[in-house]
Amino acid sequence: MAGLTAARELERTGVGVTVLEARQRPGGRILNHVFDDGVTVEVGGQWVGPTQNHVLGLIDELGLETFPSYDHGDYIVSIEGHVKRFSGDTFGLPPHVLLEAAVAQKRLERMAASVPLDQPWTAAKAPAWDGQTFESWLRGNLRLERTRQFFRLVTTAIFSAEASQLSLLHFLFYCRSGGMLDRLLGTAGGAQERRVVGGTQQVADALATDLRTMVRYDEPVRSISQGSAGCEVRTDAKTYDADGVVVAIPQHLIGAVHFDPPLPPRRRQLIQSVPMGAVIKCIARYDRPFWREEDLAGFAASLDHPVSLVFDNSPPDAACGLLLGFIEGGHARRASLLTTEARRELVVGCFIDLIGPRATDVVDYVDLDWAAEPWTGGCYGGHLGPGVWTQLGPELRRPFERVSWAGTETATEWNGYIDGAVASGLRAAHEQLSEPPGVQPSDP
Ligand SMILES: Cc1cc2nc3c(=O)[nH]c(=O)nc-3n(C[C@H](O)[C@H](O)[C@H](O)COP(=O)(O)OP(=O)(O)OC[C@H]3O[C@@H](n4cnc5c(N)ncnc54)[C@H](O)[C@@H]3O)c2cc1C
Repeated sequence: MAGLTAARELERTGVGVTVLEARQRPGGRILNHVFDDGVTVEVGGQWVGPTQNHVLGLIDELGLETFPSYDHGDYIVSIEGHVKRFSGDTFGLPPHVLLEAAVAQKRLERMAASVPLDQPWTAAKAPAWDGQTFESWLRGNLRLERTRQFFRLVTTAIFSAEASQLSLLHFLFYCRSGGMLDRLLGTAGGAQERRVVGGTQQVADALATDLRTMVRYDEPVRSISQGSAGCEVRTDAKTYDADGVVVAIPQHLIGAVHFDPPLPPRRRQLIQSVPMGAVIKCIARYDRPFWREEDLAGFAASLDHPVSLVFDNSPPDAACGLLLGFIEGGHARRASLLTTEARRELVVGCFIDLIGPRATDVVDYVDLDWAAEPWTGGCYGGHLGPGVWTQLGPELRRPFERVSWAGTETATEWNGYIDGAVASGLRAAHEQLSEPPGVQPSDP
């Protein structure tokens, strides 16, 4: 999405562009799957929501439509082996846990509000916040283990990484980047509010089709050389000459591209320091959304199961019922070792526990382990551990001569989301058009 958006924006200003894509399809981390009955689901990024104006504008421009995610009826939570229904935004937590969680949320959001999105390393308390993991903060600041568990679930839900893997500063940056926790976690009014009719991959397909120049598929970029005369970009098949290059891939994959002259040392260090989270997105198809007949929204959150979040992902006409489950963080790394059959059994077992015995009657099933995708290496996005923002943060968007960096990991708003990817593509395109390219952020 970042690369295609950058290409489209450059084309609009009359610049000739070639898009080199390693896969045989557009979309990267967004991907549709079509079940045998013709129903389309997304096995990658899918939801869009309020304030995601870049992607919402693009959807509109491309003539695509969205529909609201199903959000009626009770929710389910599983804590300490007890599965129960709840309504509202209490997550079914007991009052004393809820109180501690609410106070912690307020405190975290006050801290997050002081993190400058374009330069998180300049926050007044950046050294202290970047010197600890979010897990250390939870242990040092929360009294109840259940509240900590709740925030751990929130963390894997948002980052598909464990609280022990993120710096506190990164957690705070990301909260602010996505409009704070309620917006990140919410359905109505939040990041999970809407879906694209026909699947989100249509946005990427339409962008790729719209480009005047063909996107060149199956052409992984192997090397980028640059000098005063311009750039040379090599794939296995061809060498392309260019005045400039936008690199729009996950940070860790930049390390697999050979640069001549080599990347500056701090840029090399940064790409070693932005690992991807781990997630397996799992979807089971049923004859109909049977949970709706029981006044259930199809949403479940569990502190006890490897599938920690479940959503109703049925098509807008409810022609069939689709339950979507996420296996995230440490659970995903363990489930990655299973065969698809064993994983299906595990996932359906969780659906039965959480949504009810009728979840046995699966008609079809699909899942995708994003860590196993060589041109992605994990999802939803890259995250920064302790010390990275404060020591290497300014390198993230600093252009390297004629090379600009895009991708959702470089976004200031909605970092990690499709919207952030689109915004980053626009920024990188304008950087290429400016002379000299880009803004050089100050060192920490
Ligand atoms: C399971 C899952 C669920 C998600 N849910 C949501 C959601 O509901 N809403 C949301 O907003 N976001 C969601 N996301 C995140 C969202 O999908 C991403 O933030 C966004 O798609 C990233 O776009 P991008 O262009 O930055 O990167 P990518 O999509 O990773 O694009 C990079 C492209 O570069 C290609 N590439 C890699 N290396 C090379 C190379 N050497 N040469 C040439 N090409 C190369 C890749 O094939 C890929 O096409 C989800 C992601 C996943 C995986």
